[in-house]
Amino acid sequence: MPARSRVLFEDSSHRECEVICRLPTSRGGAATRYGFTEVMKRRVLGAAIGIVALVACTTAGSALRTSALGGAAPAPREAVRESAATAAVAPLAAPTTTDAPMPRAVPVKRPGAYANLDPDDDLVVAPPEPRDECEAELAAAGVSFRPATLAVHTEGKKTKITCGAPQVVTYLKGPGKIAYSAPPLLTCGMALALASFEKIVQEEAERSLHSRVVRIEHLGTYSCRQIARFPGWVSEHSYANAIDIARFVLKTGAVIDVLHDFDVGDAPPKKPAGAFLRSVSRRANDEDVFSHVLTPFYDAGHNNHFHLDLSRFRTDGTRPPGAAAEGEAGASP
Ligand SMILES: [Zn+2]
Repeated sequence: MPARSRVLFEDSSHRECEVICRLPTSRGGAATRYGFTEVMKRRVLGAAIGIVALVACTTAGSALRTSALGGAAPAPREAVRESAATAAVAPLAAPTTTDAPMPRAVPVKRPGAYANLDPDDDLVVAPPEPRDECEAELAAAGVSFRPATLAVHTEGKKTKITCGAPQVVTYLKGPGKIAYSAPPLLTCGMALALASFEKIVQEEAERSLHSRVVRIEHLGTYSCRQIARFPGWVSEHSYANAIDIARFVLKTGAVIDVLHDFDVGDAPPKKPAGAFLRSVSRRANDEDVFSHVLTPFYDAGHNNHFHLDLSRFRTDGTRPPGAAAEGEAGASP
């Protein structure tokens, strides 16, 4: 059942304003948290809240600010989630007729694309929903796997963040016939996306390196935690809905290491290993395989791995800051 809430924010003149919006509660009563930041402006404010906000605050294009962000640099969409304590959200007693949800078209996904393209659920923070035909989809994608469990639970003395997921698998082998340094424990959606990613990896390995990848070394999938750089915001790792990939080992024995081989220059990479890493990461983003593809272009915390996840909102972390892909909502810092 959607909950109705009153949301406080400031306009560009730093006047306190108020809008009323409909906030969906997450499945099973798990915590759902909201923050008015970049993603809010671009995807939510433009529709359901935008009209009300324009009436409430006469300054067109007012800049919403959260108390958590203050005047700091824009937060990445990976981290556009704010704690309930700082969101200034309070329940309303009675509904009105001015905030009826506006229907929005969800883009159709291409085959092999698993990124969340729904603009209306960007602010939901919760484990991903189970897929109805998970096992059949994995089989069709050429994935061998073991069913696994990862109980949904809360952790943390203060934050009480929700971790775990209702549907996870242990990924054993995908269509690219690539071994992993440890069998990844992943949500079903991430397992499907990883299978899709393997195809890109092999295509680009053959094209740039004239070899095939036989092994991927990763730094982990599940970890019940907040995002290190943005305390208070839940990482997709908390749901096993993310993987950090550090190295690709070729059939020739060569090792392509994100830390050493990723080329962060603006120009096309000069070395084949750099070309491989850039192509792989950009295709994973541009072909909507994952919601997030974060590379060393994104920040220092990702200088040695690709972070790939299926969060409910998008971030392209495959380009130099300020160089958003064509059609993207905007570059992340
Ligand atoms: Zn990660």
